Amino acid sequence: MSTLRSFLTTVTRFLKNNVFAPFTPQWWKSRVLSKIPFIGRGAKKQALPDTDAQTAPVAPQAPTVVRQYEEHPSTAYMELKYNFRDVGRMQAISETLGRDFLTAMPEGAWKSRLGQIAFLHRRIHEDITSTRMSDLIERAKSHQSNHPDDWDEWDTANLREMDTMHSHYKPVSPDLIEKRARMSYEGRRQHRDCLSAGDWPAAREYLTRVIDLNKQIAEAKCQACNTNSPYEALMDEYMPGIKLSDVESWFGTMEKRLSTLLPEILERQKQTEPPKDMHDFYPAKAQMWLNQAMLSAIGFDFQRGGLYETGHNPVEGGTPEDTRLVIKNVDIHNFMDSLKSALHEGGHGIYIQGLPRTTWRYQPVAQDMGAAVHESQALIIEMIMARTRAFYSYISPRVEGLFHGLQNPTLSADNMHKNKIWVQPTTQRKSADEVTYFLHVLHRFKLERDLINGKLKVADLPDAWNAGMRDLLGIEPDSVKDGCLQDVHWFVGKFGYFPSYAIGHMLAAQLYQTMRKDEGSDLFEHIAQGNFMPVTSWMREKIHKKGRLLQFDDLVTEATGKKLSPKPLIAHLESRYLKDNALISA
Ligand SMILES: [Zn+2]
Repeated sequence: MSTLRSFLTTVTRFLKNNVFAPFTPQWWKSRVLSKIPFIGRGAKKQALPDTDAQTAPVAPQAPTVVRQYEEHPSTAYMELKYNFRDVGRMQAISETLGRDFLTAMPEGAWKSRLGQIAFLHRRIHEDITSTRMSDLIERAKSHQSNHPDDWDEWDTANLREMDTMHSHYKPVSPDLIEKRARMSYEGRRQHRDCLSAGDWPAAREYLTRVIDLNKQIAEAKCQACNTNSPYEALMDEYMPGIKLSDVESWFGTMEKRLSTLLPEILERQKQTEPPKDMHDFYPAKAQMWLNQAMLSAIGFDFQRGGLYETGHNPVEGGTPEDTRLVIKNVDIHNFMDSLKSALHEGGHGIYIQGLPRTTWRYQPVAQDMGAAVHESQALIIEMIMARTRAFYSYISPRVEGLFHGLQNPTLSADNMHKNKIWVQPTTQRKSADEVTYFLHVLHRFKLERDLINGKLKVADLPDAWNAGMRDLLGIEPDSVKDGCLQDVHWFVGKFGYFPSYAIGHMLAAQLYQTMRKDEGSDLFEHIAQGNFMPVTSWMREKIHKKGRLLQFDDLVTEATGKKLSPKPLIAHLESRYLKDNALISA
């Protein structure tokens, strides 16, 4: 008997542990109860029918025509579209490698990564400048002049941009292109190391090599691309269609007005208390949460992008489907800096995401308009909208809650706003206020133009830097760290880029002036309620979705009714910083 009992116990234990083990009460509940209407999981489906899906009328959707692949009577143009699609794919791969370089790449991989990026750039250059490509462009242009009716405005602009890319790449040798691509990332490391050590001799040696390389590229382009000077040839890469003589004339007007406006503003500011210092402890995670929330609010799509921190300097870029923004590692004592940086990069990001990607994909006509327009998109968000009183009345209570600073006077809308519009000359471009920012850019523009045109030697840069700062801002840095080593641009070979910040600021002010007329005073009510979409939608319509359909002057004139001018920026600065109620208004 006991043997039988022992046998049954063993069998029961076996069945319990091995056969029925997976059938837990949860399993029974999910498998059995869910089959019974109104009791289990099935009940939820019955009780809450998806009425929207059943009853909502389906809006007829126009099929998206992917113009990249759309048949065209010119067979040469069709082949060009496929070739430039592949060029665009390689550029996208290079962008992804670049983002990775700044964020997730292990330090030990940097040399091989430079090789990978340089190789891709060489391949892109070879493809664009091949004899086959020259032949196809000539045949497509001939088709266009013989059959103008077959070419609509987008195809016409696409061919024009293909031709421009081809003629800009052609005079430069693949060796120079490869060296420049390598330097553009090697320079980030060199800059980081020279800056942290304040090592001017090492920086001087590296900058001499970069400038020499850029001079060779500039001279090759200058002769072939019909530009007036080597510096203009470099500037043209970042700001196609903008002439150096125009820049010098705009900057002259700005410099003249600022020479009286700045002292007026500083004098007027003496009548009011300075803002309270906001340095405190702001956890990094909370800062990143705030940055992401604000990016979502301005319309950045996190399904097609992300926000990352980097130990390097931030750089704009990415593709419409993969727009990874990078900002410098957050400072736990200063959330305003990281928010400013995120909003700036966010402005770049929504521009990239708004380009005509679904129709034109990798085609040249779907690319952005270059650095000046790119910076205008970043600055209209960071420098103009995020310095309005309305913006801080929205953000202040949220920031107080986030950082547990309820009733903290430093986080009041007035104090935050005052911090952002307080004018104070500083040696640092990145922390400069909106009024003196232009003078920092003007200073760098004059120096880099002279470095490329041979009027200034690298060895004399620190002295020239300090003299310019004294001249324009009345202050001088204590060391090269606060002086000529502060920016990454020259280290990565970006000569001709700096003017784009000031031109971008001018354009941002001109767009803002027109947007305010179009949207009326409601614009500030929307901003105060955290609805930033009127700003983004306006930019999307006027700038983003046009890609490179229009050339610079036409884009600006279509959007604002007139050509670019420094007047709207001067009017904006006078209005924001000199009007009686400047410290409490837009
Ligand atoms: Zn930028």
